Amino acid sequence: MKKREVHIVGNWKMNQSLYEISQFFIEMSKMKMELKCKAWIAPQAIHIPILKEMAFTTGAIYIGAQNCSNQDSGALTGETSPASLADLGVEFVIIGHSERRTIFGEGNELLNEKVLAALKNNLKVIYCVGETLAERESDQTYKVIDEQLLVGLKNLPADKAHLLMIAYEPVWAIGTGKVASAEQAEEVHGYIRSKLTHRASETIILYGGSVKPDNIDALLRKENIDGALVGGASLKAQDFRQLCSIASVLM
Ligand code: PEP
Repeated sequence: MKKREVHIVGNWKMNQSLYEISQFFIEMSKMKMELKCKAWIAPQAIHIPILKEMAFTTGAIYIGAQNCSNQDSGALTGETSPASLADLGVEFVIIGHSERRTIFGEGNELLNEKVLAALKNNLKVIYCVGETLAERESDQTYKVIDEQLLVGLKNLPADKAHLLMIAYEPVWAIGTGKVASAEQAEEVHGYIRSKLTHRASETIILYGGSVKPDNIDALLRKENIDGALVGGASLKAQDFRQLCSIASVLM
């Protein structure tokens, strides 16, 4: 029995056509699963309304965003407003994914503004942290994570702390097939929990990085791992459902 609710969160990134999305939900509804874990999906922003509709008919799958702006409105061509996400009834937003940090150059200061903007709109936030391979090999893992937590979560309002979740995603494990061992991940999760200033024991901390049906069980059995943020294996209904089934057994 897990202490905290287990969350399986699919990050679809810039994938899935409308046809693939409809096939995904047709497959999901055929499986008639009884979900005890929380199942969440973050599609491309443009697909959020359509997914909300399909997810509603399929059952308890909640829909979120992969990113949002640090502002509610204004002259910010191409951005996604957290206020508009809240308007749409979106459940959560991922902030600080390593692809946003490395490809789009988002630093801890900007990510802090995004976290605060999302929380102000009462969106749940999955704030991602994690080290690169070079940082791990030069013993910088905890230094990098300290900075990501300290700056990224600066001025976190105590009354919004219940909306915050963390995802530990070692960059070297994302999309590479190299999953951190359950022991490696647990060590960092425990460290992250020890650094949280509000609701540390209740905060959901997800692991992300090449999670698959064949490796999730060992990860979820660790005390401080409360679920998974999943890229590749969330795209196929069969795999996503299997991840949710394994998580549900532990609840
Ligand atoms: C991710 O993109 O957050 C991720 C963990 O991807 P993958 O599961 O494909 O490694």
